[in-house]
Amino acid sequence: MSLIIDGKKIAKEIEIELTAKVSSMENAPRLSVVQIGDDPASASYIKAKANAASRVGIHLTHHHLPIETSIEELKSLVNDLNESEDGLIIQLPIPKKLEPVLEMIKPENDVDGFHSENLGKLVQGISGMTPCTPAGIIELLYRSGNDPEGKHVVIVGRSTIVGTPLSLLLSQKGVDATVTLCHSRTKYLEEHCKEADILVAAVGKANMITKDMVKPGAIIIDVGVNRTSEGLVGDVSTEVKEVASQITPVPGGVGPMTVVMLMSNTVKSALEN
Ligand code: NDP
Repeated sequence: MSLIIDGKKIAKEIEIELTAKVSSMENAPRLSVVQIGDDPASASYIKAKANAASRVGIHLTHHHLPIETSIEELKSLVNDLNESEDGLIIQLPIPKKLEPVLEMIKPENDVDGFHSENLGKLVQGISGMTPCTPAGIIELLYRSGNDPEGKHVVIVGRSTIVGTPLSLLLSQKGVDATVTLCHSRTKYLEEHCKEADILVAAVGKANMITKDMVKPGAIIIDVGVNRTSEGLVGDVSTEVKEVASQITPVPGGVGPMTVVMLMSNTVKSALEN
């Protein structure tokens, strides 16, 4: 039976460190979250971010706009917030026609780390805003005593917000993992997964990683968040606990780490701006 990697507890430790930093700052860091439309999942993510901000001492403002918002209206709000805030995020998903505005967030305020300039810095190994979920997974590994150096990490899912930036972070000099990045066109997925010392599932398909895909003793990071009739479940089936040595739960694993890394990026931006 595997040990649980408690993301909630590790996120709390980081929150305490951030709170101490913020309390020594002259002004509270400012974070704006822009929500467009009424996606229920977005509302619950924003609530978690607002609660964490209030615990850390970050001044968070929630701008809730209707789904009909025009690109001009959104651009105008982003231009204003670029000047007044330390951090600015547009909660995804947003309507396709509004997506170009994501690139108008000033890269130094882009605390989600999604701007092409920040992703470019990641490729070059230059310090910038690192996307929160991959940064949270790296912290989770180190703080749970699982240094990825020399380990074979297999990541399933290559999105620009999770899988691809995580593969870059893990293969950077100084982190030094060996990475295999899998996706929907990968052949023999099971065989690749079975090779992993550390297996990261970031697909969005409930219970798709089964125990026959896991090497005995592997460490499992479950990024997936799937709303099913049985409640919130990850991408990793519960039977995997029978073979893995350590595993992150859903909820309470990667999710709290994503939120706390957003707080960390906001504090970083406030200190550097
Ligand atoms: P995307 O839909 O953007 O990407 C999913 C990836 O999975 C794609 O690369 C896709 O491949 C791959 N994929 C789909 N089906 C298969 C398959 N059968 N076999 C192998 N690979 C497959 O998702 P995100 O990266 O945005 O999110 C992934 C999951 O993580 C979701 O459940 C999301 O809710 C969750 N999430 C959780 C966060 C947290 O904080 N806990 C934060 C962000 C996301 P291809 O590229 O070929 O299409």
